[in-house]
Amino acid sequence: MTETVDAPTATRIPHWIGGRRIDGGSGRRGPVFNPATGVQTGAVDFASAEEVDAAVQAAREAFPAWRHTSLAKRAELFFRIRELLHARREEMAEILTREHGKVLSDALGEVTRGLEVVEHCCGIPTLLKGEHSEQASTGIDVYSIRQPLGVVAGITPFNFPAMVPMWMWAPAIACGNCFVLKPSEKDPSASLWVAELLQEAGLPDGVFNVVMGDRVAVDALLEHPDVAAISFVGSTPVARAVYEKATASGKRCQALGGAKNHMIVLPDADVNAAADAAISAGYGSAGERCMAVSMVVAVGDVAQPLVDAIRERIPKVKVGDGMDPSSEMGPLVTAEHRDRVASYVESAPGEGATVVVDGREGVPEQGFFLNPSLLDDVTPEMKAYVDEIFGPVLGVTRVATYEEAVRLVNESPYGNGVAIFTRDGGAARQFQFDVQAGMVGINVPIPVPVAYYSFGGWKSSLFGDLHVYGPESIGFYTRGKVVTSRWPDPATSQIDLGFPQTR
Ligand code: NAD
Repeated sequence: MTETVDAPTATRIPHWIGGRRIDGGSGRRGPVFNPATGVQTGAVDFASAEEVDAAVQAAREAFPAWRHTSLAKRAELFFRIRELLHARREEMAEILTREHGKVLSDALGEVTRGLEVVEHCCGIPTLLKGEHSEQASTGIDVYSIRQPLGVVAGITPFNFPAMVPMWMWAPAIACGNCFVLKPSEKDPSASLWVAELLQEAGLPDGVFNVVMGDRVAVDALLEHPDVAAISFVGSTPVARAVYEKATASGKRCQALGGAKNHMIVLPDADVNAAADAAISAGYGSAGERCMAVSMVVAVGDVAQPLVDAIRERIPKVKVGDGMDPSSEMGPLVTAEHRDRVASYVESAPGEGATVVVDGREGVPEQGFFLNPSLLDDVTPEMKAYVDEIFGPVLGVTRVATYEEAVRLVNESPYGNGVAIFTRDGGAARQFQFDVQAGMVGINVPIPVPVAYYSFGGWKSSLFGDLHVYGPESIGFYTRGKVVTSRWPDPATSQIDLGFPQTR
């Protein structure tokens, strides 16, 4: 979007640099909508490379003092951030619902999962502890320390406008870095709200900055010589390109991409529990989750009862404005995205799939709504199987054996989340051993790890080595240093040109 957007209903959404709201000067802005009404509510500034540079410079200037801030003070600050976020979580959830469309209870769930990452960072003194070996050689001690990288940046997707940035800024800042966030241009207000909250909690100006925008801002961050590391979450093609560009310019990078998550249902599974899980994980947040279940793989004769059980439940899902507490599923984020998702239902019969429930029927006229759809007899060469649809379209693939089901998952180019539903502990254990994915659920459809583990997929769902939040994020946002130390007795000091040996 490159044109200036001037809807009378639109509030301007500026950058946050050096502790202040800064109106963009590039003349480029993008529209932000309330997806439940279709009305434009915001006009977000798109940063130029110069504006990105100003944010990086603000972060750079804040870094020396922030790096010197003691672990005790950093932990204390994180407790204050946690308290403020917790006290105002409903306010934040409303911002998410108004711009993303997800229902309030789901928005609150997003804030809560993000808060868990902030809570984990309250333990930063423990998380940053190094190791110490006394008397590694005679009179010599060796110890390891971890130090921050400097200025680091995060680039985030539209589907979790609060939680995914928290995955990044919380550990990055706790580790002593200064941060520049480039949130999604589709729902940017949560980031500005967080910036003001962090300031209220006492975070020094410049430690957290937000540049709004599109590819221009992303490229400026990827090319900036003072940005040491990039965390990215978004679609696979962009994740791959970001990873290649960032690493080519010498930056550390973790780039999480898209997904196509399978839920395998074995013949011995509880059909009702599996159908409930498929509904929750397939249609929650209108399917706009990177951990959403999009393919149910039904093994053997569980297929028909399972399809029947899912179909029976679909009409009971209450679709509506996320601000209405009785709504269970909201609209999609934009009209374009809604139309793209609907196109998979349109093309499915032509490819040989069966449309069991057509979500294009009975949608409200206003807003970007699409009801839940269910496709049966989906096979691996169909578009509805191959593509990440990222909407409320659940596909069912019927296979004869467990081995066939696992092969399907392992041949997928993605490897984010996967789940198995069974009553057989041995089969579940075999599955966790066999399956190629980063996050595995056993009778749990959305296995997002708790904050003290790390989140990340395999294959085209993650470019880079380290997962986000949890222990791996501490490794990502710091560099290791090992100190070998001796306090010699001057009386015994001597010259020795030999290679140091441990004795
Ligand atoms: P997206 O890739 O379109 O955008 C992500 C970010 O990249 C945004 O900030 C956007 O402004 C920027 N961007 C978009 N196109 C770009 C380009 N050509 N060059 C540089 N930057 C660009 O993703 P989205 O539509 O906002 O989010 C949905 C996607 O994110 C889905 O594919 C979903 O699976 C994925 N996702 C993955 C995870 C995960 O943990 N693996 C989590 C959430 C979302």
